Amino acid sequence: MSILIDGKMLAAKLRGELKEKVALFKAEKGEIGLAVVLVGEDPASQVYVRNKIKACEDVGIRSFSYHLPAESTQKEVESLIAELVASDKVDGILVQLPLPKHLDERKILKLIPPAKDVDGFCAENVGNLAMNRETIVACTPFGVMKMLEEYGIDPKGKSAVVLGRSNIVGKPMAMLLVNADATVTVCHSKTENLKEVCAGADILVVAIGRPKFVTADMVKKGAVVIDVGMDRDENGKLCGDVDFENVKEKASFITPVPGGVGPMTITMLLYNTYIAASRR
Ligand code: NAP
Repeated sequence: MSILIDGKMLAAKLRGELKEKVALFKAEKGEIGLAVVLVGEDPASQVYVRNKIKACEDVGIRSFSYHLPAESTQKEVESLIAELVASDKVDGILVQLPLPKHLDERKILKLIPPAKDVDGFCAENVGNLAMNRETIVACTPFGVMKMLEEYGIDPKGKSAVVLGRSNIVGKPMAMLLVNADATVTVCHSKTENLKEVCAGADILVVAIGRPKFVTADMVKKGAVVIDVGMDRDENGKLCGDVDFENVKEKASFITPVPGGVGPMTITMLLYNTYIAASRR
């Protein structure tokens, strides 16, 4: 039976600490601001944006919300970003993805300078992470590292397997674990002997977007299992990439879905905005 890594509880604790830090910062240096840009009417994106704005309010970060119509031109979106880049009220800029298909996402994101890139997606911030230098780290993997730290799990010398190699989760996750002195293997859809590779992991981080893909036979007894996945099972119920019910019998620590990595992601966005303001 494993210990549950409670992301909801940890996120609440970190937000409480952050609220105090933000209040101190504001008393000395003024407001901290996060600009959130949404283009179009994607319902899931609207929910994410609402949650981010609410989370900002809760910790005392000022949010600037921009909702542009789906048919906005490249030029219109670019000029809004340029305005936010120039504003000294805005410490962080977040463009909610995906953008409508007719827009050049890469060109738009490239306008955000590394210092205001609170998602940690730009090449300079990713490059700094690869070189283990001061940077802004992508929110989800950053949140996973905070969870390991909170539960006293030191990756040093451990065999870590990251399942998934996306730019926003898998790759930065692998770099963070290498920087924390783990021996890291990154797996993806072309990996051979996936089951055996995963079963060799002391720490297994899964981010593939396949409901309940990781079964108990893919997990070493006593492993730490972190489930980043946010999927729907056959009944439409929210679940992760890990077969939680069976894997929890074998793991030493495990994150649930929901209530695991998810709540940590927005928390780390707030944290990154605070860091960006502190480095102004
Ligand atoms: P993504 O960009 O779709 O990448 C998925 C990765 O998984 C790819 O590297 C892919 O391999 C690999 N993969 C897919 N099927 C596989 C299989 N059968 N065997 C081995 N590898 C496989 O996904 P993502 O954006 O990283 O997100 C992954 C999951 O995390 C999703 O469920 C997403 O909703 C969730 N997520 C959660 C949070 C949160 O806050 N909790 C944040 C972000 C994402 P290839 O590269 O070879 O195609």
